[in-house]
Amino acid sequence: MSLIRRLAVITGGGSGIGRATCQIMAREGASVAVVDVDESAAKETAELCKQSCPKPDEAQFHSYSVSVANSKAVNDMMKEVKGQFSQPLSIVVNGAGIIRDKMLWKMTEEHFEEVIDVNLKGTFLVSQAAVKQMMQDGCKNGSIVNISSISAKHGNIGQSNYSASKGGVISMTKTFALELASHGIRCNAILPGFIKTPMTGKVPSEILDKIIEMVPIGRIANPEEVGEVITFLASDKASYITGTTIEITGGLWM
Ligand code: NAP
Repeated sequence: MSLIRRLAVITGGGSGIGRATCQIMAREGASVAVVDVDESAAKETAELCKQSCPKPDEAQFHSYSVSVANSKAVNDMMKEVKGQFSQPLSIVVNGAGIIRDKMLWKMTEEHFEEVIDVNLKGTFLVSQAAVKQMMQDGCKNGSIVNISSISAKHGNIGQSNYSASKGGVISMTKTFALELASHGIRCNAILPGFIKTPMTGKVPSEILDKIIEMVPIGRIANPEEVGEVITFLASDKASYITGTTIEITGGLWM
């Protein structure tokens, strides 16, 4: 168990990659604060974490219904986390994300701003609140894992808002890594390709089939295959890795 006595705040924890990561971290002994805008989904994940945890008496699982785009809600949540858990915070996974796909000429200002607010500003707000907490607690083995996307590197039709937000996440990750290394906090980003979650469930099946044809490994991934990499980056096994990105794409757009 690589995360004993660690506390992780995981946003987007109610679904897909975030939920899988919560369960894998629980399996590795971590306590988990499951954060999601969907209250019942976050609660359900906290219950699933209890089932995944090999020593339920030694870890805690709580859920928080919060939009990561709302700074007051994020700061209040972080205070609540501090009060509810016995372990100090040392892991943050910024997984909350949305898509609002449209061709450039059809995309509204609202579509653009919504995606930037959740994917980019949300990552900033949660990381900032968490880092203040970790610094106050004297954390020496902190790890932030941001979820970007292969769309940041490659671009993707219909996703000028999304790919820009995820490109911003990569640049921010590198700056966080520079600023936080001397404070004992590492920061990395992952770039998933196509992962089987409710988010890709919105992609028409004929388009998904065409994408799968382009993936050298020949299939899309399960969310657990992403959660395992995030868990590695969060753990002390990755103690010399900071400021980098890892593509989890089955070889797509390498
Ligand atoms: P998902 O299944 O839709 O999960 C995302 C979760 O985030 C949902 O529970 C969603 O709630 C929640 N959320 C949305 N807006 C939020 C907000 N403002 N505050 C807090 N939570 C919010 O998606 P996923 O596929 O697991 O994606 C997880 C992350 O991986 C995202 O950042 C996504 O961009 C990234 N990613 C995914 C893929 C992929 O192929 N799936 C590829 C590359 C990158 P609602 O369902 O209520 O909106």
